Amino acid sequence: MSRPTNRAETTGFPGRLKAVRQALKQKGLDCLLVASPENVRYLLGFTGSSSWAFVSADDAVLATDSRYAEQARCQVQFGRVCVTERGLIDFAARHAAEKGVRTLGFEPNILSFSTCRAIEARIAEPCIDRRIVPAEGIVEALRAVKDDAELALIQAAATLADRVYVHACSLIRCGMTERQLALEIEKWLRENGSGPLPFSVIVTSGPNAALPHAEPTDREFAQGEPIVMDLGATTGGYCSDFTRTVFLGEPEGSLGDVYHTVLAAQQEAIRGIRAGMRAPDADELARSVIRRAGLDAAFGHGLGHGVGLAIHESPTVSGRSTDVLLEGMVFTVEPGVYLPQQGGVRIEDTVVLRDGVVQSLTCAQKRDPVIPLRRTD
Ligand code: ZN
Ligand code: ZN
Repeated sequence: MSRPTNRAETTGFPGRLKAVRQALKQKGLDCLLVASPENVRYLLGFTGSSSWAFVSADDAVLATDSRYAEQARCQVQFGRVCVTERGLIDFAARHAAEKGVRTLGFEPNILSFSTCRAIEARIAEPCIDRRIVPAEGIVEALRAVKDDAELALIQAAATLADRVYVHACSLIRCGMTERQLALEIEKWLRENGSGPLPFSVIVTSGPNAALPHAEPTDREFAQGEPIVMDLGATTGGYCSDFTRTVFLGEPEGSLGDVYHTVLAAQQEAIRGIRAGMRAPDADELARSVIRRAGLDAAFGHGLGHGVGLAIHESPTVSGRSTDVLLEGMVFTVEPGVYLPQQGGVRIEDTVVLRDGVVQSLTCAQKRDPVIPLRRTD
């Protein structure tokens, strides 16, 4: 446990707390109970678990138990640390009473129904109309737009993804299994500086590639088949997300054409997305290319998702999203086409909106997906 040495992790906290306070004022809340570990980390820099933050106009508190007391005192520089003796629910009630909080906002997508009911029961006092009210997305909206320090961390995680992809391509050969390749990728990432991986590496081959998020199996790679690798790294808690599809030798059947359709769709989106664009319009840039090829029924998921402290966060880039893409947002552009029993293709890059346009943070080549067959095995 040490004081964070990376200045990048501490520079933004006062600005973030200020922005939360503005949102509280607008929504008529006296205090926000922050329970999401990523949101707690974003606001106060604390990286442990089992902790809640309480932000009000004149105060920011990290409430945690004795296991995390020392770590919290080292990491939290712009708020108070309170060590709870009777648990977080008890602390929430006492904090609300001490601070004269009347409306306590909570994250309805994070706190369980039973926890909310328990807090509600504890904060009730005769003669005082004290309420706990849902306040969704306050911190998530701030997190969606990254500052330079966050971008540097995501860029480092993106570069690790690019590099492990090159390493993975050097290993792929007939007879290697999905599970073996996934394990090699995970090992390389951890040995070369990634923090805990944001998700288990996905490697699918042949017909398995038709399943967007299948777990790697003992299936062996064979000539002409697609191999989809979906992987990410973390640096300082920030994630990257990256997918490439390759073929071991020249692609079989129609999947080579599908590859170029998916690539064209992704490039259309990367070229066309602008700051200020509605998310459904961004999704449509890629989807229209896939529709023109008659494959839109095989592109079942949205175009992308925000990436940051969490692997899936705001904004949602899909046809149903109400989000608007803003300067400084980091998200994925990941069209895919999945043909049952045949296979699938997905190409994914983590990108940022900078100077109004898309700039890719993952940059590994995708023009040529063919890995030459090796004669050595
Ligand atoms: Zn991915
Ligand atoms: Zn993704």
